[in-house]
Amino acid sequence: MKKARYKRVLLKISGAALTGDKQYGIDFAVTSGLAHQIKKVIDMGVELGIVVGGGNIWRGSTAAEMGMERTTADYAGMLATLLNALALQDTLEQVGVPTRVQSALHVESVCEPFIRRRAIRHLEKGRVVIFACGSGNPYVTTDTAAALRAFEIGAEVLLMAKHGIDGIYDADPKKNPKAKRFNIISYDKALKLHLRATDATAMSLCMEQNLPILVFDIAAPQSIVHAVQGDIIGTIVKS
Ligand code: UDP
Repeated sequence: MKKARYKRVLLKISGAALTGDKQYGIDFAVTSGLAHQIKKVIDMGVELGIVVGGGNIWRGSTAAEMGMERTTADYAGMLATLLNALALQDTLEQVGVPTRVQSALHVESVCEPFIRRRAIRHLEKGRVVIFACGSGNPYVTTDTAAALRAFEIGAEVLLMAKHGIDGIYDADPKKNPKAKRFNIISYDKALKLHLRATDATAMSLCMEQNLPILVFDIAAPQSIVHAVQGDIIGTIVKS
């Protein structure tokens, strides 16, 4: 098998990517497929941290639009990511990948708290670390949490796995059939064009820290494996 291009990566999986063709929640056929790919990545010797989203269950902004107080709604959203993290952990362990969940909120009877040095030690031992509950702070998304965790663990790249979005385009491809996908784009240009394949806070943070982001469609065959091998899939955002 082709070698991995990176030694340590942070993979962000949006909640919607776990839903597959369902309307809500988790499709275990999808998580099982992801687990098999992740096993290949670990077998290549890659150290893998994962931030998982929660949008398949709960989004703070949507609950706030329906009248809920925003901060509480965001805390509920962070807890939704924990449900996904536990499901993903279970599926990974079923295929023999040792996994730890670390949470940014206090839920010690369920998983470890986020402790950066301990997370790095797990990675060094070949364990996948799933970072749950986002950043622990309301008003941001798990894209931002993924950027922060990527810096903290010293990841070489942030792999942004999206559901039904296979990169960054010069216009909305759903509205404009002539929209062109970028193979490479600068942070500046992506921010200026308001190309929202990833949130602007995460993009700005990665620009400051000069961390490349690869935006790709998780549904494409073996996409995580290809991403880790450095194949040209999706759009890479860098300086
Ligand atoms: N969230 C938050 N702080 C964080 C990360 C997430 O408040 O650091 C909340 C927010 O309400 C968000 C929800 O958790 O809508 C689920 O995360 P997100 O929308 O990023 O999930 P994804 O779209 O990636 O599935």
